[in-house]
Amino acid sequence: MTMTAEKLEALNRIIRESKTAPFYRDRLPQQPLSSLADLKKIPLTTKADLRASSPFGLLAVPGEELVQYHESSGTTGEPVSVWFTRDDVMHNARQIARCGVGLGPSDIVLIRFPYALSAAAHMVQAAAQLRGACVVPAGGRTSVTPFPKVVELMHRLGVTVLTCLSLQAVLIAEVAEMLGLHPRRDFPALRAICAAGETLPPGRRKLLEELWGVPVFDFYGMTEIGTAVVDCEAFVPHPIEDDFVLEILDDAFRSDVPVGEYGHLVVTTLKKRATPMIRYVTGDRARLVEKPCVCGRTTALEIRGRWEDALRIGDVRLDLWDLDAVVSRLPCRRFWAAAPMPDGVRLVVEEERGGERVPEGLAALLEDEYRVKWRIDIAPKGTLYDRKQLFEIGLLGKPKYLYTEQELKCLLEKEN
Ligand SMILES: [Zn+2]
Repeated sequence: MTMTAEKLEALNRIIRESKTAPFYRDRLPQQPLSSLADLKKIPLTTKADLRASSPFGLLAVPGEELVQYHESSGTTGEPVSVWFTRDDVMHNARQIARCGVGLGPSDIVLIRFPYALSAAAHMVQAAAQLRGACVVPAGGRTSVTPFPKVVELMHRLGVTVLTCLSLQAVLIAEVAEMLGLHPRRDFPALRAICAAGETLPPGRRKLLEELWGVPVFDFYGMTEIGTAVVDCEAFVPHPIEDDFVLEILDDAFRSDVPVGEYGHLVVTTLKKRATPMIRYVTGDRARLVEKPCVCGRTTALEIRGRWEDALRIGDVRLDLWDLDAVVSRLPCRRFWAAAPMPDGVRLVVEEERGGERVPEGLAALLEDEYRVKWRIDIAPKGTLYDRKQLFEIGLLGKPKYLYTEQELKCLLEKEN
């Protein structure tokens, strides 16, 4: 990406200020950077670094300036601490408010991200209120707002925008149907879904649009960095260039990949002051696409999900986008799980209306396309997502699509 003089100045300012944090003290250069090439000499910051330095090692402002604390847990459990000044919160809110959904005073926004410790719910709330919208805080993963309660709130209050993990929007539609409501017909006020928190492959987006009959906007961020990419009104994901320096690096994390090619997304935050991130390895794969958009911007950044969220069969790597593209060709697409087999992929999808069948000849076609074997099963409703649990405690819904072969077998046997 290009580096303007203003951006270089912002970068040097954040590097200067970051040196207050013990973690950065000896990692950052004494002299200001003179170009983007100089940035590459600064060591990368990994999630393991953040874990080792939490809670205070990355704190770069005096405690008096802090107004909010969040944690990002991830899969290994050890939390990462992220602190916010008042300005940090406002910057993140403005990033989200740029989304092409165009939140305004007539909106009622139901927030389904978990409120406990992670930042997303709080930042979306700040963004919605910044635009004058009214927020309904119906966070996920709590027994206070199980799925039927969310459906009831959406229906009774005339919620206009639902914002959640994309999987949650599928689960909410499923529960609405179980309650005798039709997602497309019985929520006339709903005008859009804003998805974030997990990669949104094209097939999942289409599924949500069909289920709910409204457009779906995507945005990409994480507690550590804020919100770096938002969909414009034409549903194109644009990076927020003023607030970040984004690098897309090769597998060795040494050089930038050419524009248009996927690589590892590394982010430097220019506005966050309490817990700045300098060359943070996000763990996500992304690619830059240079193409004029109707909104006037020319750069898109496609996020393709986490590097580790992929099946590896021999030398074939299949990520969530690849698997979603296969699921999109099946008659039931709501809930699926995949596992690697020695020579291929085991894919299980839940039936929707009942009696669906895998199209004849599809497995052979897929084998030609992906160079691995496919075993596709349509399993009874409830195999992957226990419907009783949806009604009882409402904790269900953390995205999990990839399993080991053994785990997937257990799920199927439990059902039969
Ligand atoms: Zn655009």
